[in-house]
Amino acid sequence: MKITQDKVVSIEYVLKVAGQIEDQSEAGDPLVYLHGHNNIIPGLENALEGHDVGDKINVTVLPEDGYGERDQENLQILPREDFDDDVEINASYFAQSDDGSVNPFTVLAVNGNEVTVDFNPPLAGQTLDFEATILDVRDATAEELDHGHPHGEGMHDDEDEE
Ligand code: ZN
Repeated sequence: MKITQDKVVSIEYVLKVAGQIEDQSEAGDPLVYLHGHNNIIPGLENALEGHDVGDKINVTVLPEDGYGERDQENLQILPREDFDDDVEINASYFAQSDDGSVNPFTVLAVNGNEVTVDFNPPLAGQTLDFEATILDVRDATAEELDHGHPHGEGMHDDEDEE
C-alpha cells in the first residue's frame, strides 16, 4: 500500500543536522503519523508521498519546509519573578498563553530581573537531513481521521480524549 492522503504510516528515521545525529526513532518504536494532516514537517511528509512499505528515502529539508527560519521577534524578555528560584541557562520551559496553548521556550540569559528567552523551535533555521525507512502503511480509521492523528498501542483510548 502506497503512502497517500489519510494513510497511517510507520517509519524509522534518522535526522542529521550538519552531519551529526540530532534525533532518531528508537529500535522497535517507529514514528507513526497520519499522512496529510500536518503531523510531521512538510518537507518529510512530501518526500514520503507515494512511497511503499520497505522503501528507504533520503531527503534534505530546508528550513522553510522544516521548522521555519529563526525569527528575532521570538526572542523575548520575561520578568525574573515569573520563574522558580533556579533558572537554568539553555533549559527548556513552557509558557501558557491566554488562549490556553502551551509554548516551549529556551532560556538564553539571566540579567538581574530580566530573563532572555527564545520561543524559536530548537531546529528553526536548520537544514535537516532525514533518512527514513517505511515500515507500515494502512488505512486510517474514521476516529483517527476525526482526531487528525493515529491511534496505536499506548495512545489514548476511545472517547476520553480528543
Ligand atoms: Zn485521538
